[in-house]
This record gives sequence, C-alpha cells and structure tokens, in this order.
Amino acid sequence: MNRRERVLGIRRKLTPWYEKHRRELPWRGARDPYAIWISEVMLQQTQVATVTPYYRRFLRRFPNVRALSRAPIDAVLKAWEGLGYYGRARRLHHAAKTIVREFGGKLPRTTKELLTLPGVGRYTAGAIASIAFGLDEPVLDGNVTRVLCRLFRIRTQPKAPAVQKKLWKLARQLIPSGQAGRFNQALMELGATVCKPRKPGCVVCPLRKLCLAHAKGEEENLPLKVKRRPLPHYDVAVGIVRRKGRILIDRRPPEGLLGGLWEFPGGRRRKDETLQQCVVREVREELGVAVRVRALLVTVKHAYTHFRITLHAFECDYVSGRPKALGCAAWKWVRPDELDAYAFPGANRKVIEALRRRDK
Ligand code: SF4
Repeated sequence: MNRRERVLGIRRKLTPWYEKHRRELPWRGARDPYAIWISEVMLQQTQVATVTPYYRRFLRRFPNVRALSRAPIDAVLKAWEGLGYYGRARRLHHAAKTIVREFGGKLPRTTKELLTLPGVGRYTAGAIASIAFGLDEPVLDGNVTRVLCRLFRIRTQPKAPAVQKKLWKLARQLIPSGQAGRFNQALMELGATVCKPRKPGCVVCPLRKLCLAHAKGEEENLPLKVKRRPLPHYDVAVGIVRRKGRILIDRRPPEGLLGGLWEFPGGRRRKDETLQQCVVREVREELGVAVRVRALLVTVKHAYTHFRITLHAFECDYVSGRPKALGCAAWKWVRPDELDAYAFPGANRKVIEALRRRDK
C-alpha cells in the first residue's frame, strides 16, 4: 500500500468510527468559538475528567469574551484555582481584552490572526479554526503525535524541529477537504481512547490494517521517548503569621510560576539554614516583617512540571514591622474565613485545609 492509499484509507475509516464511538463531552458539539477556545486552553496539559467541572463553572461565570475581558484577574485566577499552569488563565484574560479591543469582541476567524492572541499557539489556533470556523487547518497535540508516529512508523524523536515539521505536514495532508473539524477531533479522540501511550487498543482500532507500527509489532515503542532526568527537589518553608486574629498573605508577582496567586510568605530553604531560619528570612525579605517561629503545622509534598517540593508550614507570631511589598506584588491581613476568597496554589490550599482541621 502506498502513502496515498494509506491516507485515503485513514480518511475513510476514522470519521465514521468517531461518529459512533466518541465520548459525550460538554464541549463536544459546541459551535461558540469562545467556548471552544476555553475548552482547548483548559485541555492543554490537563485531563478531561479534571477539566469538565472547571469548564462548566468557567462558562457560567464568564459566558462570553466581553464578560471575561471585564472580570478582574483575581476572579479569573480564582475560577482557575486547582487547574494548574496558571499562565494559561492570565493569557486567556489578556487575550480576551485584546479580542475586545482589536476584534470587536469576536474571536478572529483566521489562523494568522488567532496566532496573534496571547497564549494561542499553533495547536490552539488550528483547533479553533477547524472546529469553530470549519477551516481546513491541522492540529498536532500529544495524542495526534502519537497516532501519526505509529500509523506512519516515524522512528525519530517527535520533538525534533525537522520531525515536528514533518508531522504538521502529515496532519495537514490527512484532512479530508471541508471536514477538518470532525477529522481533527476524531484523530485526537483515537489517541485519547484507543491509541493510548501504553497498551494501545489495536484490536479495536479502526486503523489497524493501515498502521505500519502495528504491522511490525512496534506500537508500544513509538513515539520515541525522551529520557527524563529525575526532577530536582527543594524544601520550602512558609509562615502562618498571625496578628489580632488575622493571617498575613502575599501575592506573587504577576509573571512567572504561579504568577498573581496568593500564598503564605516563605520560600526555598538555603543549604546553610534551618527551616525555621528560612521562614524568618523569607518573611523579612518579602514583607519587611519580623516573626517568631512556633510549631510546625503541616508538611505537604507537591510536584510541579520541572521540580518537586516539600512545603513545611509553621505557625508564627508577628513581632514587628509594617508589611511592605518588597519581594511580592501585594499583601493583606485576612481572617481565616476569608482565605477562600483568594486564589492559592495547590500546596498552599493543603496548608489551608490543615489550618481548618486544626481549628475545628
Ligand atoms: S493500530 Fe494500534 S498503534 Fe496503530 S493507530 Fe491503531 S491503536 Fe494506534
């Protein structure tokens, strides 16, 4: 079978399979470009089951581009709390303002214009253009990459620029004219539900007879994996600084990891200091406040994309100094029952839960 016959065979088999076997997901069948955009951004690096309730809540809270553009960033981060990769929420918000300012509140209809929006890369632009606007644009995410590497037995590192170029070209060639939206979703669905990273379901796969990796028994070996180095680990110490029934929280700078989220003051322990010394130093550096460290409240483990932390939260007494935003964007004294009004990163949320359990 030559390449052309393989391509035609894939087109013929895949879409009918999708129509019959696709999962019913809240964003499936959505025609509203805004809703499609939100779902695509949420689904980057996040599982469907996690995204579903967030997607519903987010659309209720911000039903259209204008509502999102008018909302304070705090409200957007709060709606995103727990979903991770908070840069996505900040860029969505920024992009909504751009859409209102430059495109009259409607998502632009061309890939070129979509790519000018903050946070919209080639994948997201392709997904919106094909699913919302019916343009014959390809998508290439982790699922599509895996399916294509297996179908066409691509035995080179898929992240390499030359291979990426080849995969995008292939993804474009496969699209049946005028049907990119359905076809792209079918390819992604096959990757998510059948052609899984481990133990792909080749016996039930509609493309089994067209798959070169399956014919060679190589499906589990493709795509080639990058050897990951073990993630570095850091100890982080934070203070629950109390004064007159209130707790001191501060806000991270707007850019960078967890940008714009609130947290308990603290930071990474240096080699030459104890956890308690770390809390005293960090609170002084971040806020210009002196504290006395008391008992350990809780220890929490958390993994980020590029490192892992063990976070040690200590009860602290306020000693002196009026807080100043020295190493943070803002600060506040809040009552324990007000903590839920602020967006905190996952590890800090676990500290809040420990506080609640202890204060019960
Ligand atoms: S036959 Fe197996 S490896 Fe090939 S596309 Fe289908 S599930 Fe993936």
